[in-house]
Amino acid sequence: MTAFPAGTILGYPRIGRRRELKRAVEAHWAGTLDEAALEHTAAELRRATRERLAALGLGRDDSSIPESFSYYDQVLDAAAAVGALPARFADLREADGSIGLRAYFAAARGDAERTPLEMTKWFDTNYHYLVPEIAPETVFALSSHRFAQQVAEARADGVVTRPVVVGPVTLLALSKPADGAPEGFVPLSRIDDLLPVYVELLAALRAAGAEWVQLDEPALVSESLEVAPADLAAAAERAYAVLGGAHHRPQIEVAAGYAQLSEESWRALAAAPIDAIAVDLTRGEVPIPVSGLASKTLIGGVVEGRNVWRGDLAAAWEKLERLKALGAASTAVGTSTSLQHVPHDVDDEPDLDVRLKSWLAFADQKVGQVAVLARGLVDGRASIEAELAAATAALADRAAADGVHDGAVRPRAASLDAAAFDRGPQDERDAAQEALGLPLLPTTTIGSFPQTADIRRARAAHDRGELSTSDYEDVLRLEITSVIGLQEELGVDVLVHGEPERNDMVQYFAENLDGFAVTRNGWVQSYGSRATRPSILWGDVSRPAPITVRWAQFAQALTEKPVKGMLTGPVTILAWSFVRDDQPLATTANQVALALRDEIGDLEEAGIRIIQVDEPALRELLPLKKGDQPAYLDWSVASFRLATAGADAATQVHTHLCYSEFGVVIDAIAALDADVTSIEAARSRGEVIADIAESGFSRGIGPGVYDIHSPRVPQVDEIVDLLEQAVNSIPVRRVWVNPDCGLKTRAYPETVAALGNLVAAAERVREGR
Ligand code: GLN
Ligand code: ZN
Repeated sequence: MTAFPAGTILGYPRIGRRRELKRAVEAHWAGTLDEAALEHTAAELRRATRERLAALGLGRDDSSIPESFSYYDQVLDAAAAVGALPARFADLREADGSIGLRAYFAAARGDAERTPLEMTKWFDTNYHYLVPEIAPETVFALSSHRFAQQVAEARADGVVTRPVVVGPVTLLALSKPADGAPEGFVPLSRIDDLLPVYVELLAALRAAGAEWVQLDEPALVSESLEVAPADLAAAAERAYAVLGGAHHRPQIEVAAGYAQLSEESWRALAAAPIDAIAVDLTRGEVPIPVSGLASKTLIGGVVEGRNVWRGDLAAAWEKLERLKALGAASTAVGTSTSLQHVPHDVDDEPDLDVRLKSWLAFADQKVGQVAVLARGLVDGRASIEAELAAATAALADRAAADGVHDGAVRPRAASLDAAAFDRGPQDERDAAQEALGLPLLPTTTIGSFPQTADIRRARAAHDRGELSTSDYEDVLRLEITSVIGLQEELGVDVLVHGEPERNDMVQYFAENLDGFAVTRNGWVQSYGSRATRPSILWGDVSRPAPITVRWAQFAQALTEKPVKGMLTGPVTILAWSFVRDDQPLATTANQVALALRDEIGDLEEAGIRIIQVDEPALRELLPLKKGDQPAYLDWSVASFRLATAGADAATQVHTHLCYSEFGVVIDAIAALDADVTSIEAARSRGEVIADIAESGFSRGIGPGVYDIHSPRVPQVDEIVDLLEQAVNSIPVRRVWVNPDCGLKTRAYPETVAALGNLVAAAERVREGR
């Protein structure tokens, strides 16, 4: 039995400092890199990560280096390990029945005959995991040796790693019932069948040389899953009685990040025959005293795994002291979650302002913080006094910096009255908007048109300084002209300019607002091989100049039909950036809202009569704890209203939401008070339509009738069916006809065909009226 190390992290970014893994897996998918070469690249990446973590201060032989590598997703890794892939992938297994990369990648991405696993957001983050499909008859059996092989691989290099595996409760709690499962079937009810496979997995890890294993159980913090916290705790109690009782196993650390562990689960884990519990002390409090801790290590997640701030190290130390007082056998320091949510290294950012850099900590700097606090735990506080003081000084410097508090921004936000959040009566707006002269069942799109290789090439060349701004803008104008022409030809009613000037719907605004910084190498995995580079919102936000106006104006001048102005809403701008942690999100959201409000005023002045403010992230930021949700919905809705309420009654305000789970947030969506809302309904076959009808939602609504997540072209008849369904339950004058999201990831041929069918379907349903 070896002791748990004094400091560790719960996981590390997997894609590589230069997105090496992305390049390798994408080359493999394209057929230009064979499996052996891919495995080789991945092994090199794992080795580099271990060496890096050791250099940053984690021990090579004390299990403090986690092995959290994944080719695509950690939930899929666990599902593959226990053989829980749907039957449609069975013929892709290896000859011995195991799940190799072929079946694994097919489950992640689908192929010509097979739909992939569904993807959804991982807790309240912007990371997406693959949703396992579990049936009453799913056979669980150890089906991949990847976890054990990686332990052995590190051992061969002289490093004792701590493998990180999604735990059995979370794996099932995040699964969905397979198609055809009986009504009311709950995947978690299969826990007893699953546990023996985890027992086998633990034995294999031990045999490969693991002394500790980390089982991630973030489901135990959530109040937003299908399964209630008490049932999750009961499942955890059973699961860890079995796993802890296994004879041949590494010592077990159960990690519960992302929020406060529910009290039931905390009690269950404390009483379980496991060896360590990691709790999140950044989004949760030091837990209450309970019995059962005397034999365990508690790991205090005091270094935030999800933001990029250097933070308050002295306060982190205080939390560890309070955790110590619970009387566990020992106390260690950790991160609050895996570091997979943050970029690699602040020192890898040549363009960032040095002063800003001194306030930041990416993954590598956070590992350094853990190492410092661990040293303090071992040698006493006096040994790290200098580091604590340096962090405190950086915080003070940040608090006093120009831009963090901008005297021109604050007074305006402070003087807002109720009217600033209110657009006035709906019927007056409806009457004023008659002037738009729209037909029944108006057709439109969500904003972006395909981002062709030409546009991307031109943008990259412009970024490198090889293409002048005026030449680059010529490319954009040409594209806008062709997109407008195309929509005119297709007979779309409300046009868009196509967003060719935007690299990303948030970064584009971040680059054009004060208070944000953008990184060069700050990639964060979003899903699979996809990564984004979130901007850093560090200061008070203001708009030095109009952002979208000249593009909208250029597009509007090309047509008699209305062109929609296109903005990203305050909640989404916050959700997809790293946001300052020194004031309430509500305060920051309102600053962004005021900048957008001014942009809307300028768009109106330029003759734009319809303006869409996208809020695809509204649902995603919803807190995991029910008690925190009302306050969140209050400020998020308020910021949208603040952004849009300055619009004239005659200006039609649209919004777009990227999901179809309407239920939880339906009241909030109504409270946004947009004139028209488009949502993602194509995938749930119009079920959403019923929800909308039932909810009494009384605004314009565009249930998506073309699923843009697939290259498939919907036929006119299908779209007509969906529209008939809609107009049968929702008053026809409120229904809009649109795809379910932006078209930027699609290619032109299918886009043109699909939009042609969409317009034809709208015409056919109109004629029948
Ligand atoms: N207007 C954006 C687009 O069409 C909306 C994207 C989104 O909803 N994620 O690309
Ligand atoms: Zn969308």
